[in-house]
Amino acid sequence: MGATAHALLSPSAAHRWINCTAAPRLEADVEDKGSEFAAEGTLAHAYCAQKLKAFLGLPTDGEAKEIAELNDRYHTGEMDEYTDTYKTIVLEKFNAARAKTKDALLLIETRLDFSEYVPDAFGTADAIIIADGTMEVIDFKYGKGVKVSAVDNPQMKIYGLGAYEKFSFEYKIDRVRMTIIQPRIENFSEWELSVSELMAWTDGVLTPKAQQAYKGDGPQVPGDWCQFCKVKSNCRALTQKCIEAAKNHPDPKLISPDELAADILPMLATVKTWLAGVEDYALQQALSGVQLHGWKVVEGRSVRKITDQDGAALALNKAGYKTTEIYKPQELRTITDLEKLTGKKQFAAICGDYIEKPQGKPTLAPESDKRPAIDPLADDFKDVKF
Ligand code: SF4
Repeated sequence: MGATAHALLSPSAAHRWINCTAAPRLEADVEDKGSEFAAEGTLAHAYCAQKLKAFLGLPTDGEAKEIAELNDRYHTGEMDEYTDTYKTIVLEKFNAARAKTKDALLLIETRLDFSEYVPDAFGTADAIIIADGTMEVIDFKYGKGVKVSAVDNPQMKIYGLGAYEKFSFEYKIDRVRMTIIQPRIENFSEWELSVSELMAWTDGVLTPKAQQAYKGDGPQVPGDWCQFCKVKSNCRALTQKCIEAAKNHPDPKLISPDELAADILPMLATVKTWLAGVEDYALQQALSGVQLHGWKVVEGRSVRKITDQDGAALALNKAGYKTTEIYKPQELRTITDLEKLTGKKQFAAICGDYIEKPQGKPTLAPESDKRPAIDPLADDFKDVKF
């Protein structure tokens, strides 16, 4: 899904601005640095759209242009594989819809207008299937850093709302299904709600929160949504929350396991998010000339490097050192790099016999985590290194 670059309230940030309505106005002046990941995602989306449009016999000139601009830099074997997976899933869904409703509709890259509910907001839905009273909005995500669930996902609900507004005059739509396809981490998430539930959320939550966020007069509310906030490094509310979490246990002098579980561990992700941004922000400030009293910028450690590899090797050979002594043995690239080269399935087919996955080291996770709990005292784990 794609949204307009300049809208203050982007649907992709809705989880943040619904919870912290102060964030968008605070973030508005912070420069948006386009990332390599964003360009890679744009290319993958262009392939997805091209493959589905070609199947439907629609023109693909726009996609071909985008692909030509980005292909040399970002195309990989795995991108072909993952965009094929997306195409297959969408077409399976479309065929299932057609089996129920003969004139089921598949729409690719549909421009949607959310501005009646979220000021200035527009977006493009990757795929929409309309059939038999149900409309399905499908979102392809190429990122693999964060697993995104469709369940109660505000971005998906906003797209569902936009699609409903666009098509409800022509088609009978009672239910809206939202689907996220994130093939790089095998995440396929679906969630469905009735149109009346969607409208109740729109009137009760979305519209009032969007208005407050647009005006910028709501409170700063820290939480897990701070992770991608552009002002997380210097947000006073987040800073206070993190400092208070550390300060709030003066008595007894040592914290108990119960306090650790109930008060400290739930704050871990938020504190890490905050700390990760603070050091970088402070350095950027100092480098731009801001005085931070008691602190200075110094030269960091650096590692010596050989400027002429061939020249150095020749000199070592001449000095009597053998080639096998001075060169590292040849080494295979990492599994991630090789999968990128070949595609995940292809890599498994070629190298599956040579791969093993060792036991992971024990990790703390909240009770809600899907992985089963392990017994840390069991023999299986006594040799795992920390
Ligand atoms: S860091 Fe968190 S609390 Fe602060 S403005 Fe951003 S979302 Fe709100």
